[in-house]
Amino acid sequence: MNNTDFDIAIVGGGLVGASLALALASNWRVVLIERTAQQAPSYADGDWDNRIYAISPGSQAFLRTIGAWPPVRPGWIRKMDVRGDAGGAIHFDALDLAADALAATVENRSLQATLWQALANRVTLISPAEMQSVEFGADSVQLRLADDRVLNAKLAVAADGAQSWLREQAGIQFSRQPYHQCGVVANFTCERPHGDIARQWFRTDGILAWLPLPGNRISIVWSTDDDHAVKLRAMSSSDLANRVAMAGGRALGDLHCITPAAAFPLSLGRAAKVTGSRLALVGDAAHTIHPLAGQGVNLGFGDASMLASILNASPGRDPGDAYLLARYARSRAEDVLRMQMVCDGLQKLFSLQYPFLSPLRNFGLNLTDSAGPLKRLLMQQAFR
Ligand SMILES: Cc1cc2nc3c(=O)[nH]c(=O)nc-3n(C[C@H](O)[C@H](O)[C@H](O)COP(=O)(O)OP(=O)(O)OC[C@H]3O[C@@H](n4cnc5c(N)ncnc54)[C@H](O)[C@@H]3O)c2cc1C
Repeated sequence: MNNTDFDIAIVGGGLVGASLALALASNWRVVLIERTAQQAPSYADGDWDNRIYAISPGSQAFLRTIGAWPPVRPGWIRKMDVRGDAGGAIHFDALDLAADALAATVENRSLQATLWQALANRVTLISPAEMQSVEFGADSVQLRLADDRVLNAKLAVAADGAQSWLREQAGIQFSRQPYHQCGVVANFTCERPHGDIARQWFRTDGILAWLPLPGNRISIVWSTDDDHAVKLRAMSSSDLANRVAMAGGRALGDLHCITPAAAFPLSLGRAAKVTGSRLALVGDAAHTIHPLAGQGVNLGFGDASMLASILNASPGRDPGDAYLLARYARSRAEDVLRMQMVCDGLQKLFSLQYPFLSPLRNFGLNLTDSAGPLKRLLMQQAFR
C-alpha cells in the first residue's frame, strides 16, 4: 500500500463526512477530501454563527464516542413549547423523560472545528481540493483530483451535501420536491431569560422556531414562503428584531439582532438508492428534510454512526463489499423515511389554509398534549 491507496475515501468534510471519517479512523485507512479550507472560528462575545443545530441525545452520544463532544459554548433545550395557529399547544419537558435536556443547541462552525481538531493525525485530510473524476471498478474506486493526484480506495462515500457531485457521477437519481419556502436564520439577544425553552409557532406565514443559546440569546429558524423570506432578509436589523419579537408574541420581550439573517431553500429530497457499486451516500447527499423538527443534521449523524458500526464490526473485510453496503441501506431506510414523512406531513397539515382544518389540527395538538402515553411515545421518538 502507498500513500495514495486507502480503504475508504470520503468526499465532503462537513459535519457528517468529518464525523464518519473520525468514527472509522481506528480501523481503516481513511482519506477525507474537502473543497473548502477550514478556518479556526472566533468565539468573541458578539460573534455567532447563524447556522445553529439542535443536536439530539443520540447524536451527542455518537459524537462523544468519537471524541468530538462537547463543542465550544453549547446551549441546552430543557423544555419545548409548541403553539398551533388557533389556540392549540403542546409542551415537552426533559424531566418527563428523566433526562437533563431534550437536545443541545450548537453552532455549525464550533462543531465543525471540534470534529476537525479530533481528526488531526488520524485520517489523511486533503483540503482545499476539487474533484475531477471518478471511476468505479470491480475491485476499487479511482478518484482523480483537479491537481491530477490520483487516489484509490475500496469504498467511496458521498458526504458532499445536497448537490452531491459524487452521487451525480455514480448516476444515482435524486428526487427533489421544493417546498417553495426558505429557512430564514438569525440570532438575537433577548430582554428576558429564555429559561432553556425552545419555542415554536405554526403560523399562517410559516413555522417560526426560537432555540435557546447560552446567556440571553436565541437563534431563530423561520420556515416561510420564498417571497416572505426575501422581505425578512431585506429588513433592517431593528425591523427584523421587532418583526420576530411580535411574531412570537413578545414572549421574551425586546429582541436585538446579533447576526444578519441568512436563508436556505427547503426541499424534500431523496436519493433513488443510498448505495451503489463501492459507494455509500450519507447526510444531505442521501436525503434532505424540512427543518421544522431540527432533524436534518441528526439524520446525517445517524447515517455516519450506522455505516461506521457496520464497517467497524468487520475489520479486515473489503469495506466495499456489497453485502455490508446492503446492510447499511436496509438499516437506515426506515428511520429516514419515517422522519421525512413526519416532517412533510406536519408541514403540509399546517400550511393548508382550509377553514375546517385549523380547529382540527389545534384540537389534535391539545389532545396529544393531554394524552400521557401518546405524548411520551412522541417524545421518545423525537428526542432520542
Ligand atoms: C444556512 C443554513 C442553515 C441550516 N440550518 C439548519 C438547522 O437549523 N437545522 C438542521 O437540521 N439543518 C439545517 N440546515 C441543513 C443542514 O446544514 C444540513 O442538513 C447538514 O449540514 C448536512 O450535513 P452534510 O455534512 O451532509 O452536508 P453539508 O453540510 O452540505 O457538507 C457537505 C460538505 O461537502 C463539501 N463538498 C461539496 N462538494 C464537494 C466536492 N465536490 N468535493 C469536496 N468537497 C465537497 C462542502 O464544502 C461541505 O463541507 C441548514 C442549512 C443551511 C445552508
